[in-house]
Amino acid sequence: MERKNAWKGYDEAKSAKVDALAKDYMDFLDNGKTERECVDTIVNQIEAAGYRELPELMKEGKKLSAGDKVYAVWMNKTVVMFQIGTKPMTEGLNILGAHIDSPRLDIKQNPLYEDSDFALLDTHYYGGIKKYQWVTLPLALHGVVAKKDGSIVEINIGENEDDPVFFISDLLIHLSAEQMEKKASKVIEGEALDLIFGSRPLAGEEKEAVKAGVMKLLAEQYGIEEEDFLSAELEVVPAGKAREAGLDRSMVLGYGQDDRVCAYTALQAILKCKDPKKTCMTILTDKEETGSDGNTGLNSSYLPYFIADLAKVYGLEGRNVISASECLSADVNAAYDPTFSEPFEIRNSSQINYGVVATKFTGARGKSGTSDASAEFVGRVRKLFDEHNIVWQTGELGKVDGGGGGTVAQYIANLDMNVIDVGVPVLSMHAPFEITSKIDTYMAYKAFSVFFAD
Ligand code: MN
Ligand code: MN
Repeated sequence: MERKNAWKGYDEAKSAKVDALAKDYMDFLDNGKTERECVDTIVNQIEAAGYRELPELMKEGKKLSAGDKVYAVWMNKTVVMFQIGTKPMTEGLNILGAHIDSPRLDIKQNPLYEDSDFALLDTHYYGGIKKYQWVTLPLALHGVVAKKDGSIVEINIGENEDDPVFFISDLLIHLSAEQMEKKASKVIEGEALDLIFGSRPLAGEEKEAVKAGVMKLLAEQYGIEEEDFLSAELEVVPAGKAREAGLDRSMVLGYGQDDRVCAYTALQAILKCKDPKKTCMTILTDKEETGSDGNTGLNSSYLPYFIADLAKVYGLEGRNVISASECLSADVNAAYDPTFSEPFEIRNSSQINYGVVATKFTGARGKSGTSDASAEFVGRVRKLFDEHNIVWQTGELGKVDGGGGGTVAQYIANLDMNVIDVGVPVLSMHAPFEITSKIDTYMAYKAFSVFFAD
């Protein structure tokens, strides 16, 4: 079957729109490098657009009508937003679901130690990473520290030009004879991912003077002491801003594009949505990268609870709304890489610049752990995209026995509704800096918008 490079047919005038969206998207990436920062950024944007908190409105016993915009935040790490449509809610919602957590290194609960006059922070990686990719890069520290007095200290070090950055060392090539013989999974092991945090001894201190020095700075600048690490969520991420990539500026290189590229476009789709027939919902969730478990993952109950809350405003049961709803699970897929072509089956792999990807099923081996979208539902999505000139492609995650992976689709499917994965192809997925194409991101935004307008 023939596929189309989405840039073909895009003249300068149309490309300007693609570039404008990409610029705004890069700002989104820069402002949200953790799930909490994403929620903060998004809540600011949606409140400015007239969204109001659903739990508050319920307390006041307010009625909702078509055009109303409401949202709810769960545990500071997920956000759900609704725009009320003109059709009764029993006809179901049109739902876009994406995730705002990305692979990274989390700081351990007892992380700080001194060795050979270095202060180091021990980490535990989050999500699937190639550990050897995370050494000798400028790294930033983001997150929160919950103090015993109940106050929360926000940390963000390494993003401003005059901030210091952190790093993980690697062995010099000259002495790597033994290391170079190791398997890639053993070259850098999990326990070797220790962040070098400082090296200047505190004057007058005899024992562990470097550690004392960094603790003094943390106390002065953030009011935190060593025990406060016990109740902290600190995430180590690549420092620096997203950049345009390629001489033709066709791509974006940046951290956390899985899955903030879909979170961003799903957010824009609901922000720009006008007078929808069906009620629209965008849900941006956490913990996808670790299997969607936990109280902020889509395996928990917060999604059906929030839909039930909304249904209650109309005197309806949640399940009558949920079963009638349809969802695009907005997540990225692996883009075909000509340098590493072997694990891909080209006819069924997604390609950069070939538009938004619809993935009928994910999983591994014999479709284990999958939500396999029905032919009927795929048929409707196909018709919708074609009717609105969305450049789109299908994509399977590599060769049949090449590996595999999942998304939130299966957890949404478990709620008893139609769902299919639709998202943006990504090159170097889960690397510190991932690559997307501007035009694919634009096509995802268009695809999500026509889904809401349907
Ligand atoms: Mn993902
Ligand atoms: Mn992922």
